[in-house]
Amino acid sequence: MRPKTFAAEALDVIVEGDTIKDLVAPGTVKGEGMERIDANGRALMPGLVNGHNHATANLAKGLFDRYNLELYLTAVPWSTGRRTLEDKALSATIGAAEMARKGCTAAYDMFAEFPLPTVEGMAAVADAYAKAGLRAAIAPQITDKSFWEAIPGLAGAIPEPLRSDVLKAKSAPASDSIAACKKILAAWRRSPDQIKLALGPSIPHHCSDEFLRECRDLAREHGLGMQMHVAESKFQSIVGPKIYGESLVAHLDREKILGPNFCVAHGVWLSDDDRKRLGDAGASVSHNPGSNLKLGSGMADMRRMLAAGINVAVGTDGTACSDNLNAFEAMRLACYLSRVKDHPVEQWISAREALYAATEGGAKALGFDRIGRIEKNWKADLVFLDLSALHYVPLNDLAQQIVFGEDGTGVEHVMAGGRFIVRDRRVLGVDVAKLRREAEEAMVRLRAANAEAKAFAEKLLPYVGRFCTGLH
Ligand SMILES: [Zn+2]
Repeated sequence: MRPKTFAAEALDVIVEGDTIKDLVAPGTVKGEGMERIDANGRALMPGLVNGHNHATANLAKGLFDRYNLELYLTAVPWSTGRRTLEDKALSATIGAAEMARKGCTAAYDMFAEFPLPTVEGMAAVADAYAKAGLRAAIAPQITDKSFWEAIPGLAGAIPEPLRSDVLKAKSAPASDSIAACKKILAAWRRSPDQIKLALGPSIPHHCSDEFLRECRDLAREHGLGMQMHVAESKFQSIVGPKIYGESLVAHLDREKILGPNFCVAHGVWLSDDDRKRLGDAGASVSHNPGSNLKLGSGMADMRRMLAAGINVAVGTDGTACSDNLNAFEAMRLACYLSRVKDHPVEQWISAREALYAATEGGAKALGFDRIGRIEKNWKADLVFLDLSALHYVPLNDLAQQIVFGEDGTGVEHVMAGGRFIVRDRRVLGVDVAKLRREAEEAMVRLRAANAEAKAFAEKLLPYVGRFCTGLH
């Protein structure tokens, strides 16, 4: 089907500008004035695409153990709170640099700011991706209901005086969020084949229907992608029908949200009917197995997604939920998880299917054209893998050794749009030592600034835990 995509052949790759101009037999180009890059002993693969990430989360990595999604949502205010514009830029840069270093050349990023997305905040995230050299679709993460308002019965399960305090935390009204997105859109100056704007109404039932429709119309009017967390936890899949009388996906379908520009993040608890609706609409799902396992959300069924005609991407999620941004690991987990579902062996996700999802499938989910293959007239987004890395010794099957063996340590150089962004394992656009100093300093200040909010959230955890696991 895709004979060239993942077949290992000895070829010279001719890059002109940001594009692969040709693939020719080794040594056949004699042209003068060309820069030659010796890739002997290396394998080239298309740059990986991370289907779901949060720039906000990188300063909060490693903070959580034994938290499910609902406990994590309770902790979001303190773990990402009180950020300055510089902190937002810092958090985004850490993520972009890690992804570049680990072979990613593009990412879908849902970026949250409280109470409203800002022109400056979005520009800071776009700058971070641009500095590291990645492509990105960046979606302001927005809702018009707080977690406490979104879940029927949740606030009532929390005793006073805690209840009154949680209800004070309000999401911005829909009209303010839409106005903020329009302002961002008007100020956006990035080239859309490099860093594009998308919309991220975060979770269906955390958004009023009117708000969802406004997001839909804005996306349609400006040709933007939309990403939402849908059916991530079992709890969400139970709450959805309680609110809507139908599944979350059926409700989004009713509101005419689904379409080729729509991407579900997670989709762990989709029914056959949900998958059919998404497949029929030409929608994508970012399958984020690391996060789904760490938060105990469950095992998304990638095979059934593919069978329903859904375009599947592979993602890491933010580093507060799965603590690295390693798309190689996400690919491997996508394969492994399919093997412990109820599928016969021949239905397991193969290494080549995972590679497709993590490259071309991801690019499609982000809405980028001609990205994800090493082919004439496709973009020169390339990862140079060092074949002396021991997981390639001996080299028996490149595609399988990439998916089952690569942990990012074999990534030697990375090129995006014909330009090196990582050379000799060094991220060129980011001073990582300086980044580290700044991050450590920022966290001293942020830990102190958020200490009270953290203590408050910790009082809520037992009630949230009990309510959310007790709902059937
Ligand atoms: Zn997410």
